[in-house]
Amino acid sequence: MKIQLPGNAKLLIDTLTRAGYEAYAVGGCVRDSILGRTPGDWDITTSASPQQVKEIFPRTVDTGIQHGTVTVLEGTEAFEVTTYRIDGEYEDGRHPKEVAFTSDLMEDLKRRDFTINAMAYNESEGLIDAFGGIADLKKRMIRCVGNPTDRFTEDALRMMRAVRFAAQLGFSIEEETKAAAAELAPNLARISAERIQVELVKLLVSDHPEEIRTLYEIGLIKTFLPEFDEMMQTPQNNRYHCYNVGEHSIVALQNIAPDKVLRLTMLLHDVAKPVCKSMDQNGIYHFYRHPAKGAGMAKEILRRLKFDNQTINRVTALIACHDQMPSLREASVRHAMHKIGLAQYPALFEVKRSDVMAKSEYGRKDRLEAICAYERIYQDILKKNQCLSLKDLAVNGNDVKQLGMGQGKQVGAVLDRLLDHVLDHPEDNTREKLLNFIKTELKPE
Ligand code: ATP
Ligand code: MG
Repeated sequence: MKIQLPGNAKLLIDTLTRAGYEAYAVGGCVRDSILGRTPGDWDITTSASPQQVKEIFPRTVDTGIQHGTVTVLEGTEAFEVTTYRIDGEYEDGRHPKEVAFTSDLMEDLKRRDFTINAMAYNESEGLIDAFGGIADLKKRMIRCVGNPTDRFTEDALRMMRAVRFAAQLGFSIEEETKAAAAELAPNLARISAERIQVELVKLLVSDHPEEIRTLYEIGLIKTFLPEFDEMMQTPQNNRYHCYNVGEHSIVALQNIAPDKVLRLTMLLHDVAKPVCKSMDQNGIYHFYRHPAKGAGMAKEILRRLKFDNQTINRVTALIACHDQMPSLREASVRHAMHKIGLAQYPALFEVKRSDVMAKSEYGRKDRLEAICAYERIYQDILKKNQCLSLKDLAVNGNDVKQLGMGQGKQVGAVLDRLLDHVLDHPEDNTREKLLNFIKTELKPE
């Protein structure tokens, strides 16, 4: 097996070898190269100690020196170079009590999570595959190195990683590995939100976001997103839907581009439906006000999972307006654009489309056409550069004050009234017409 090492990775390995140490590309980059996928980064594993690595290379950063990792800068690239390592006893299902360095590559490969991630490669030794990684790549299987119960007991995050790799690679999880995860799933509660978030996002933006269902089935998701369990158990008894809330959201995830904000939005857009559910006298379910309630719930959830404010704000804003539909006249669309905020477009159209495509076929064609018409009108309005906010008005607060319309809040109210008028009549957004409008329509006698 021959793997094409990029120039600088080869340079690092050769430099370490010439200095008398062993060095290999390891883990994800070996796996991805064999699969014909482009590796995100090239990690190097070596028998040299962190101190020795720092002596050999002029430009290094101590990224995780206590775990044996030194970042080596080469040209404009950065490589994580990690000393062969044995993880000591795991005390709490999260962290090894201590890590020990070793001169034995096998020991280092043994501590890795899955067989497909436990292969090493360099040009002189070729591929080192001690745990059947190639066989599992061929079978498209995620399988723990060694006993899965032990491995998941050591580090509970590995259960989440198993599902994440299944989602990224389109693999299945080997039966024993899956059974062990199902049994130990509650241990995931011990893992920090930050580490869970990383794996969740990778899963969501992968080619198979539907693997979120596996997180549900083996009981992992309820440890950090119990709201999703509720969604999976909430049917939608009305003609617009053919799935329960959770399955609907999974199909919606599959319908939208692999972008973090869009996928989080689809995951959580109906999160409030279980709590907003009501049934009318005909047995039909309704979910009144679920978008507003859902935006609030999503905010709490995303905070709990330690997402950054920008992501939280974008996702919650999209959730809040995902169900709104103005009437298809220019003026109504201008009002909607003002109210919803331009920042939510054009993602909002994508959200609406993926939502509709995850419902029953009842009324689907009309709904899709309406979304297209909405989008066309939106684009026309943008092209015409029409006034959509207070700052685009042809008059400002000083003008209003000079006409004796009051101070402070009163001025604001006049400007709001003017904007409301201009959203209906964009041709009136000239200084002359607006001053006239104030005098004739708004001026107190
Ligand atoms: P990605 O493409 O997402 O970076 P990756 O396989 O490189 O995938 P990383 O999280 O970067 O994944 O980890 C690098 C390597 O370190 C893995 O391939 C695996 O060998 C090992 N590893 C990472 N996390 C763990 C863990 N929790 N337990 C055991 N081994 C791990
Ligand atoms: Mg990696």
